Amino acid sequence: MEDLKAALRDRCLTVASLPEKGRSLLAATDFHPGQVILSQEPYVFAPNAAEPRCDGCFATSARLRKCSACQAVWYCGSSCQKSEWKMHRLECMALARLDKEKRKSVTPSIRLMIKLYIRRKLQDEKIISTTAMDNYSLVDALVSHMSEINEKQLVLYAQMANLINIILQWPEINIKEVAENFSKLSCNAHTICDSELRPLGTGLYPVISIINHSCLPNAVLLFEGRTAVVRAVQHIPQGSEVLISYIETAGSTTTRLKSLREQYHFACACPRCAKLGQPDDIKESAILEGYRCEDDRCSGFLLRDSEKQGFVCQQCGRVRKKEEIRGIASEIKLMSERTSSSTSPSQAVSIYKMIENLQGKLYHPSSIILLQTREKILKATLMDLQDWKEALVYCKLTIPVYERVYPGYHPLLGLQYYTSGKLEWLLDDTGNAIKSLTKAVDILRVTHGTNTEFVRELVMKLEEARAEASHNLSCADE
Ligand SMILES: [Zn+2]
Ligand SMILES: [Zn+2]
Ligand SMILES: [Zn+2]
Ligand SMILES: [Zn+2]
Repeated sequence: MEDLKAALRDRCLTVASLPEKGRSLLAATDFHPGQVILSQEPYVFAPNAAEPRCDGCFATSARLRKCSACQAVWYCGSSCQKSEWKMHRLECMALARLDKEKRKSVTPSIRLMIKLYIRRKLQDEKIISTTAMDNYSLVDALVSHMSEINEKQLVLYAQMANLINIILQWPEINIKEVAENFSKLSCNAHTICDSELRPLGTGLYPVISIINHSCLPNAVLLFEGRTAVVRAVQHIPQGSEVLISYIETAGSTTTRLKSLREQYHFACACPRCAKLGQPDDIKESAILEGYRCEDDRCSGFLLRDSEKQGFVCQQCGRVRKKEEIRGIASEIKLMSERTSSSTSPSQAVSIYKMIENLQGKLYHPSSIILLQTREKILKATLMDLQDWKEALVYCKLTIPVYERVYPGYHPLLGLQYYTSGKLEWLLDDTGNAIKSLTKAVDILRVTHGTNTEFVRELVMKLEEARAEASHNLSCADE
């Protein structure tokens, strides 16, 4: 632990134990928006199983090849295979022994655990070196919340631990410890995403895990390849705690508290959650997840009436009956059941639009439920269909909601401006493309850093758009 403290001191950070919170990461200097606070390589990581991905760099391509010995992992080429070989050698032997049926049960979480034990063994044997920020004692120090998890989950962890025992066949394996480590992974591992926040895999970053949660965070965690990078999104004065968000912060306080309790086993006491039940918070929840006024022109929010017969608009007093609301809700449910993985993008668009139409009648215009449906229409279907015009309409519908729910620098808001700018550019609306791309640059250079390829590409697009605009101007002058 002393080594870690020294390594963090070099990065102007300290670890402290705060009451109610346990280990916390504090700033030992002032951090400013966009500044990197901490970055870390994963102790262990594994790509998602949804589609074949390179085990080293997460690439998906037609040129991926299976490891010939175990037939269980993919590589994009010999350089990734070579760089992963020290870790994969023992895993490969273990996986190669399995029959086809057993191999199917090797999910990313199982692989993460296999790799955790292999890495510990290789570090113990000094085959892989250790550093202050890369050693098993950091994993040991993570919270597992074993006493808070339910019976069903415990049984599942025990079964998974048994599977690890069968796969590795190491006499020194302690099943109870493996089960506890599964619990650790469930509340400490991070989803590794690309720059556009699409999930690629899972990784364990034990030092990043020291950072606590807030629904009003002052820092953001993103990934560059598999490296986790935490950047300040607000001024963080010396001595204050560095805080990131573990969950989607757009939900109501009740929704946020529920998901934090279920997955991370704690009761958030951040400034937003502390407002639970206060008039401001009730209003905000009713906007985010509640119903709309019967009158299209009214933007009031609705609260349940005292007899629980319906919902009353707090602006104009109109009442919506419980039965009418239930009716629309069940129509939405029926409609949602019609979408499946086999529906084509154009079928999906029309079903989602019917759902959107019904949700528009049910929910408040700034509702995040409506937002999520519009996101689906935009990203999962219209972009695939290359319907840029319609995609732009949906993109523009989502931006005001994102602006409302996310304070200041938020990667999702920046990415949405980026999408808008790209669409406007494709549709030859250079003027608006410049406006949107400028907003995207302002946000993403803070959340993603100025030196990443992703932001450099964005800045280049903006410069291109500006050059075209000034060319058009000079042509008009002639
Ligand atoms: Zn690769
Ligand atoms: Zn292999
Ligand atoms: Zn909170
Ligand atoms: Zn109203």
